[in-house]
Amino acid sequence: MHHDSTIYVAGGDTLLGRALLERLQREGFRNLVGVPPSEPDLTDPHQVELFFREARPEYVFHVAGMSGGILANQTRPAELMLDNLLVGTNVIQQAHRYHVTRLLYVASSCSYPRLAPQPMREDSLLTGPLEPTNDAYALAKLAGWKLCDAFRRQYGSCFITAIPANAFGPHDDFSLQGGHVIPSLMQRMHQARTTGEKEVVVWGSGTPRREFLYIHDLADACLFVMHRYEGPSPINLGGQQDLSIREIATLIADVVGYRGKLRFDTSKPDGMPRKVLDSTRLLAMGWKPSTPLRIALENTYNWFLAHQVREDTVHVCQPV
Ligand code: GDP
Repeated sequence: MHHDSTIYVAGGDTLLGRALLERLQREGFRNLVGVPPSEPDLTDPHQVELFFREARPEYVFHVAGMSGGILANQTRPAELMLDNLLVGTNVIQQAHRYHVTRLLYVASSCSYPRLAPQPMREDSLLTGPLEPTNDAYALAKLAGWKLCDAFRRQYGSCFITAIPANAFGPHDDFSLQGGHVIPSLMQRMHQARTTGEKEVVVWGSGTPRREFLYIHDLADACLFVMHRYEGPSPINLGGQQDLSIREIATLIADVVGYRGKLRFDTSKPDGMPRKVLDSTRLLAMGWKPSTPLRIALENTYNWFLAHQVREDTVHVCQPV
């Protein structure tokens, strides 16, 4: 990828899409196409075909598709699955038709079996049943990977797939309905601190464990694998220690300055008991995350404060 290569970030308005565009612009990549607001509607095959025909991207980062936290996955499975199937199919098909040099498809760690051995290695994919709270979304992401692999086998396309850890950061979805655990708890604890509430509800038992990756580190990992990785198997993008939900909630309370009590609501789902990626392959290639979790949380909260994101600003559109 050169500074004058034509690059398209499919899903430029998502959490990862924004971080990638920001990074590519900062590094002097001059020829970025389909940058929002001029991105086509990726669920519309005609718009996608027309866009590829005119823009002729050489490199594609596919980070498009609706996504959301555990509640969004439970209440909107049909929308999430359909959207991801459509955008995956449309973009991958046109990338083949218009001879894209390399495409990186970003899938999701939800695609691992619910009880995959932890940390999860790439060869555990498709070895067992999915977590029911997000199986529809997870299947759409698996289909995207397998479609890339099918094009690779039939036509020799350089379409690679990566699976990121749970990402968070500036531009996240801070809504209580759509967001993942970090932005949602930040929103809730911020409100509780502002209004002097004595307790904050945290969903589930607090015992599930998750690996969290700062969005700018994830964008860095995406660029790294776009340059360096080649192969039919997805590659995990992680490398951080996992934390229990209780631990991350306590850390968020500290960053936000909330001193009240945390109450765990066990009537809400826990989701997967543990989700940690085995990133041995990536780390062996020489990449590692560079932002300590505490700093990443502070940056995210500062962004939230600067933008005063309201709790009802739902934009279920974040990948990963
Ligand atoms: P997951 O990694 O796909 O399960 O997605 P989430 O980030 O939505 O949830 C991770 C874990 O955090 C689950 O066990 C949730 O029950 C728990 N959790 C606790 N409080 C919240 C909250 O306010 N919002 C979300 N989304 N999850 C929460």
